[in-house]
Amino acid sequence: MTKLGSAVDQKIDLAIKNAILAEYSEPQTIAIHNGLIREIAPVIAVPAAETLDAEGDLIIPGLIDPHLHLDKAFLLDQFPAQKGTFQEALEETLRLKKGFTIEDIQTRSRKVINNAIGFGITAIRSHVEVDPILQLTSIKALLPLKQEYADRLTLQLAIFAQEGITNQPGTEQLLQEALKLGGDVIGSAPYTDPDPERNINIVFDLAQTFDCDVDFHLDFLDNDEPLLFPIVARETIKRGWQNRVCLGHMTRLAGLSPIELQEAAVLLQEAGISILALPASDLYMMARQDTHNIRRGVAPVQTLFDLDVNCAIATNNIQNLFTPFGDGDPLKICTLLAQTLQLGTQQRHALCLDMATTHAAKAMGIHNHRIAPGNKADLVILNADSVSQAIGAAPGNRTTIKAGKVISRTRKEQVLSSSAV
Ligand SMILES: [Zn+2]
Repeated sequence: MTKLGSAVDQKIDLAIKNAILAEYSEPQTIAIHNGLIREIAPVIAVPAAETLDAEGDLIIPGLIDPHLHLDKAFLLDQFPAQKGTFQEALEETLRLKKGFTIEDIQTRSRKVINNAIGFGITAIRSHVEVDPILQLTSIKALLPLKQEYADRLTLQLAIFAQEGITNQPGTEQLLQEALKLGGDVIGSAPYTDPDPERNINIVFDLAQTFDCDVDFHLDFLDNDEPLLFPIVARETIKRGWQNRVCLGHMTRLAGLSPIELQEAAVLLQEAGISILALPASDLYMMARQDTHNIRRGVAPVQTLFDLDVNCAIATNNIQNLFTPFGDGDPLKICTLLAQTLQLGTQQRHALCLDMATTHAAKAMGIHNHRIAPGNKADLVILNADSVSQAIGAAPGNRTTIKAGKVISRTRKEQVLSSSAV
C-alpha cells in the first residue's frame, strides 16, 4: 500500500477501483482528492463521493504529445499530395498558410484536440507558426483554445519559426510579439535558415528574454550538412538552460556509429536535452534518395535512453503533406516505434509507454507525471490487461481523467450479426 501521509480520513472525491497498474501485481484502488492522487491500495477505507470501476483494465498516466502541429493538421482536404515529396510539402504548405484564418485553424485544431482527449491525452505541446506570411494569426487562433480547454487539456504553445529567421525580415520581432501575447516556448527549424547558427542564437536570446523553454526541429534532413545539436548543446550549457531544451526529429542520429552516438549522448545528457522521435513523419520523409536497402531514419531513442538521455515520442503531423496519415493517438505511435526500432520485450514495451507519458511530460517541462501519491491525477484507463497488450494493439475503449475528473469515455461498438445462413 502506498499513501500520502496527511489527511486520509476525510471523504475523497473519486475512487478508481479494480485497476491494473504496471508496477503492481494485484488490482488496486486509486483515491483522488482535489485533483491529486492521494492513495493507492487494494482497498480504500475512506468513502468516496464517486467511484469508478476500472473492471480490471490497465490505468496509466495520461498520454502526452510533446510535439504536434495543430495549425497544420488536417490540411489534406485543402491540397492532397501530387508528388508526395518533402519539397512539395514545404512549398504547398507555405502556399496554404497564406489562406489560413483564425476560424480555419480553430476548426481543424478543435477536431485534433477533441480526438486527443478521447485517446487519453492530458497534455500537448503544439508548435505555433509565426512568420511574415502568417504573422500572428496562428497564436491568436490557439490562445483562446488553450483557455477553452484548460480544465480538460494542458496545452503548451511553442512559438515556431518554420521558414527561417535570418532570411525572413521581421520574423524576430513577430516572435517577440507572439511570446508577449502568451506563447509558452520558443523554437525554430534551423535547417530552413541559411545561417542556422545565428538562428539558434536568436532563439536562445528570446528564451532568455522571456524566460521560456526552447524547442528545435533539428538534424532532420538526411544530407551531409554539419550536425547542429552540438551547437545547441553548447548554447544550452553556456546559458544555463539545462533541462529546458527539447529537440524533435533528430533523425541523423540514426546514422551515427555506436561510438559517435555514445559521444552524442554524453553531450546531450550533460546539457539535459530531451530527444523526440517522430516516427510517423520520419519514416515517411527520410531516405528518399535511397534506391534500395532504404534506411529507416528514426532517432535511436532506445539506445539514447540506455545512455541516460531523456527520450520521448510524438505525433508531429496529422494528415497533411508532411505526414498524410494518422489520427493523433500516441499509442499507435508507440506501436509504430516498437515495430520500427524492433522493441519486442515487455521491458521495451514499458519504455515505449514511458516515452508517450512520463518521459514525454519531462521533455515539455512537466515533472512527476507518474501514478503516485501527491502527483496530479491525469490518467487514462485503457481496455488492456497489460502494457504489452496496449502497445500490441491500441485499445479503442478509453476513459480519460484530467485533474481527478472523468472528462471523456470512449466505447467501441460492434454489432455482429449471428450466422448469415
Ligand atoms: Zn514538427
